[in-house]
Amino acid sequence: MFDHTSETLHFTKNWQQQLTEAFNNIEDLCHYLQLALEDLPTSVSATKNFPLRVPVSFAASIQKGNPNDPLLRQVLPIKDELSIYSGFNNDPVGDLASTVEVGVLHKYHGRVLLINTGSCAINCRYCFRRNFPYSDSQLSKQYEDSGIQYLNEHTEVSEVILSGGDPLSLNDERLKSIVQKLNAIKHLKRIRIHTRLPIVLPARITESLITTLTGSTQQVVLVVHCNHANEINVRVKNALDLLRNNGINLFNQSVLLKDVNDQPNTLCDLSESLFAHGVIPYYLHLLDKATGTGHFEVSETIAKELIKQMQLRLPGYLVPKLVKEQAGALSKQTVL
Ligand SMILES: *Cc1c(COP(=O)(O)O)cnc(C)c1O
Ligand code: SF4
Repeated sequence: MFDHTSETLHFTKNWQQQLTEAFNNIEDLCHYLQLALEDLPTSVSATKNFPLRVPVSFAASIQKGNPNDPLLRQVLPIKDELSIYSGFNNDPVGDLASTVEVGVLHKYHGRVLLINTGSCAINCRYCFRRNFPYSDSQLSKQYEDSGIQYLNEHTEVSEVILSGGDPLSLNDERLKSIVQKLNAIKHLKRIRIHTRLPIVLPARITESLITTLTGSTQQVVLVVHCNHANEINVRVKNALDLLRNNGINLFNQSVLLKDVNDQPNTLCDLSESLFAHGVIPYYLHLLDKATGTGHFEVSETIAKELIKQMQLRLPGYLVPKLVKEQAGALSKQTVL
């Protein structure tokens, strides 16, 4: 078990070791955060199908002794996850209907999304893919060839999105091989990586990863996922700076979450902190209605009001686009 007296030592370890030392049960996390279990509405049943997983780097940014911390709320399994909310289901965005090959989603014009792996460094309780059947729907090595063949045949595709799970939880060798295979497909212009690792496990941003990314002959776009300015600690700042200084284009997507980031100040601070490290706010997503996430929902009316407040305070380029994902739609839907 991770011994919290040795945080400094922990952060000197490589990312794989840090990942094995991530918190994986409620007691250890609460003990580290100096929280009494009986003061929290935690639920062990909620972890059955979707375990608790929190890297130490992320946990270190949670305020000790604060049961209402906005980062804690994103990762702590609570009883609300077991409540039934109408309209919530296991495939809220129609992932299964847009699957063209195992692990290959072709939903929008010119862009193909690859589910490269089911694993993540952190388990976000609001995750829209928390119930996704990863074991038979990911582009594991055995299916890679048919995925690559699909891309070769579809010359209208100009961008490939590596997603998951988290594609940066693949090791460097595997990533490098994927990048090389994509580079060989001449009609592709860009490789986009959707990842939360720079935020939750910044040790993942190594020189070797940078070499793989800068070695791509196609442009690389990295879209990180950060919901609150408190997530941007000194380790995250260094990781973002390293990416940015190596010419990687950085964007952010957030999910609008009740009691996490549903205040104008919180969203404005997030945009400011991201941009201070070269990250441009891209999307603010309305919650996708996955079973177990109903307690995170913020209404469309409130969401629109929040964006209005942001527009009154920030330059236009720091106001993310408010969007929702709709099963069967031809693009993400802008909420105006
Ligand atoms: C979100 C998403 C994309 C990318 O959409 P953008 O609007 O270009 O960011 C592509 N494919 C799928 C299946 C998606 O869910
Ligand atoms: S990092 Fe993304 S895919 Fe992974 S659990 Fe969090 S929201 Fe879901």
